[in-house]
Amino acid sequence: MTSAQSASEEIERFHHHVAALSDEIEQSVADLENEALAAEAQIMRAHLAMLRDPEFHRQVHELVRATRYAAEVAAEHVLRDVAAALRASESPTLVDRAVDLEDLALRLKARMGAPEAYDLAVDLLGVERPILAMPALLPSVVLQAKSLGVVGFIVEQGTGLSHGAILARSFGLPAVRIPALAALEGLIGSRMLLDGNTGEVLVCPDDEEIVARVEPAAVPLPGERAAELPAQLWVSVVDPIQLEGFDWTGVEGVGLYRTEMLFLRHDHDFPGEAEQMEAYRRLFELADGRPVVVRTADLGADKPVAHMTFGPQDNPYLGLRAHRLYRFHAEIFITQVRAILRAAAGGHRLRLMFPMIESIDQWHFLQGLLDQAIASLRNEGLPFQADAPRGILVETPSAAWGFSTLLKVIDFASVGTNDLVQYLFAVERGAANVQDFYQPEHPIVLDVLATLADQAHRAGVPLSICGEVAGDPTLVGVLVGLGIDQLSLAPAAIARVRQQLRSLDLDEARQLAEACRRADTVDDVRSILGRTDLAAAECAPAVGRDQAVDPVCGMIVSTRDNPHLLRVGGVRHYFCSSRCMRRFLTSVRDGKAVVQAD
Ligand code: PEP
Ligand code: MG
Repeated sequence: MTSAQSASEEIERFHHHVAALSDEIEQSVADLENEALAAEAQIMRAHLAMLRDPEFHRQVHELVRATRYAAEVAAEHVLRDVAAALRASESPTLVDRAVDLEDLALRLKARMGAPEAYDLAVDLLGVERPILAMPALLPSVVLQAKSLGVVGFIVEQGTGLSHGAILARSFGLPAVRIPALAALEGLIGSRMLLDGNTGEVLVCPDDEEIVARVEPAAVPLPGERAAELPAQLWVSVVDPIQLEGFDWTGVEGVGLYRTEMLFLRHDHDFPGEAEQMEAYRRLFELADGRPVVVRTADLGADKPVAHMTFGPQDNPYLGLRAHRLYRFHAEIFITQVRAILRAAAGGHRLRLMFPMIESIDQWHFLQGLLDQAIASLRNEGLPFQADAPRGILVETPSAAWGFSTLLKVIDFASVGTNDLVQYLFAVERGAANVQDFYQPEHPIVLDVLATLADQAHRAGVPLSICGEVAGDPTLVGVLVGLGIDQLSLAPAAIARVRQQLRSLDLDEARQLAEACRRADTVDDVRSILGRTDLAAAECAPAVGRDQAVDPVCGMIVSTRDNPHLLRVGGVRHYFCSSRCMRRFLTSVRDGKAVVQAD
């Protein structure tokens, strides 16, 4: 309660702290992006959007003026009211989103005068390998906990899709849900073991139990070499910075450098040759003599550039993308390959990879452009590397179907399952409401992968997988069993996959893979693999920025320019249609729903 300060001073104080907290969250977004955790960065962006929501600000102003509450109290009231309404819904997704609002309320409160509400560092001082227990996994607490050496979480509420759970998973921290935290009473400070695989909490485990539960350290064994694993491990990066301090033990090299980040950073034009060269040089330096697969830019579709329109197209995934853009702007490709080849001068182990190749025709088209780039470098007398191996990403059904022809001309290939699955099933890879149809473990996909592996082996051409499935713990054994012997993964997935490969029995993996490949349905594969409901739920999409769940039909809808919007008791509800909006209205108990005009 504030009596001395005027409401307007209080509101000003509120804005000051909102701005400071926004800066702090923006920093988290940047940190996560630097670690190539794009989806996780998106979560913190959603927090930013909530914090900056004009409706939230309006309600805080109103409450401060009407009650003379301190701004942090008013903000907490507003956020907790909305959270309570979400909690009351029947949708687990909305209940998970309530936790995000409570998280923001806590952070604002801590910043505006009650730091003890939030300071984990003080609570954890001197505690070795702490486990945190809390009602729900707050995303900001997970971020803090990561840097404080926390090794896991025990929670009471929330699903595997809550933003806190997604972040914890990315950082490799187990989170186990128990029915009531009260069960831990009297156990604070006790030795505990969290078994993230079974979802169990063991109190005061003896050494035998620990040995039985704890997986051998997922770090490389002394002297372990990649050759001793049944598949080679490669690392996929979006920025050379990810290789700073990277532990290369058991890792062959860079299996995929997605160069698009360089291009997406620029608002006004494409990066020039010199700037690109600098980035590629840094990459080669950090790879320290290991082979590096550099993918030429795959712009368009999910990687649009702010300063370029791609012409009229209803479906950008089927439109101007990657080499298709070079029909109009060959200079983009020529500049990039000049920069790559120049950076690789001096014996760096470059492998040049072209995305989205549909057939040998596109291969020839790009080789023509590459010849032009090489001729120009020769004319200018610049040092460069001319003879780097050249390969393709197999990510269209046509490339998979025509692979035997492509094998005649390529030096290596990598399967881009992220796109291949999308194009095989005609299901947009990011479209929230069709993710159930995006099934990388489907027998059809497994059959395609096995065929590609077989053809590549017979032709003596190295083949890897660099899509997300390469790091999927439930699929790694199947992929190796199918004959895939090179996997390229995000840095964060390497330790876990290495661990799996170490204990993989190749004969068993082959039998498992064959059974999955011969299955009729995706559910058959899932039951062969023992995928639990939770694992399936984890594949479901998180609700992204500018999206909400229609509380009636459960569809994920856009919140931007969506006319089907209702505000009830300060909470905004978005719908797919007036039909769902009407059904919702009739179900609102107090009948106070107000149609929002904006
Ligand atoms: C893929 O499609 O699997 C791939 C590696 O490329 P991206 O995800 O960058 O499109
Ligand atoms: Mg792709």
